[in-house]
Amino acid sequence: MTDKISIAEDNIRRIRQAWKSQPTREGAGVRLKRAFGFNETPRLDPFLLLDAFHSENPDDYRKGFPWHPHRGIETITYILDGEVEHGDSMGNRGLISAGDVQWMTAGSGIIHQEMPKGDAKGEMWGFQLWSNLPARSKMMDPRYQEVKQSQIPVVKTPDGATVRVIAGEAAGARGPVREIVTDPLFLDVTLPAGKSFVQPVPANHNAFVYAIDGEGYFEPRESLAREAPERYGEGSLLLYGSGDAIEASADKKPVRFLLVAGKPLREPIAWYGPVVMNTQKELETAFDEFGKGTFVKHGESRN
Ligand code: MN
Repeated sequence: MTDKISIAEDNIRRIRQAWKSQPTREGAGVRLKRAFGFNETPRLDPFLLLDAFHSENPDDYRKGFPWHPHRGIETITYILDGEVEHGDSMGNRGLISAGDVQWMTAGSGIIHQEMPKGDAKGEMWGFQLWSNLPARSKMMDPRYQEVKQSQIPVVKTPDGATVRVIAGEAAGARGPVREIVTDPLFLDVTLPAGKSFVQPVPANHNAFVYAIDGEGYFEPRESLAREAPERYGEGSLLLYGSGDAIEASADKKPVRFLLVAGKPLREPIAWYGPVVMNTQKELETAFDEFGKGTFVKHGESRN
């Protein structure tokens, strides 16, 4: 990778659909905002769901997400402020702290709990993305990639962007999350006022932006001069059409956003709650096994 990125304007992706995240409740009553989920399937393939939780009131999150199973997917938790206590059926225990990422490949099954704790002032801010596994990997052994803040490259580009590279390659750096089947890109990008950012994205990968702070433009800069430009801010989900790159820019205000892309699986989806398989039969098997206490295939079961 070089710092100089030259991509023809007509290969820069345009926004295909834009919408706002919606308030909902999950787990034992956590208030969060859902950017996409079941209803948007399969437009974001291989991604299934994105939740944002941001609150300064512990009542909104402290009940957390008590023991529940996952099979057939990966859950990616990225924390900006506060921390999440995590424990699972294999006896793993840990804290996901500010700036950390937990990339959990549930595979054949884990049973875990996720309990947000907030920071000293009671603030909790983070995201959970669900990514689908291909049929051939749905029953793989569970795997964690626990990434601490200090392991995530923070790159300043010549154009003035600050990019935290969690997965994939950007701004000459490679993210610490590796060997994921869908070859994901997961970036946290901050643009000061007046700055811009261009990121190559493979043409066959689906890509989206989720704006998390401030506001900015998310289409080719050259188009901004001749079209009525629309700014997008906190809570906006932007799903892109085809192309080789994504361009974002900030004018009067800074903007911070997640840029995520991955290779679509184009496989049938059978989804119920925290389990996502290919067929209804596989779903029935999963919940039947959960009921009988044989859900966990790897390590010690808790149920
Ligand atoms: Mn979970």
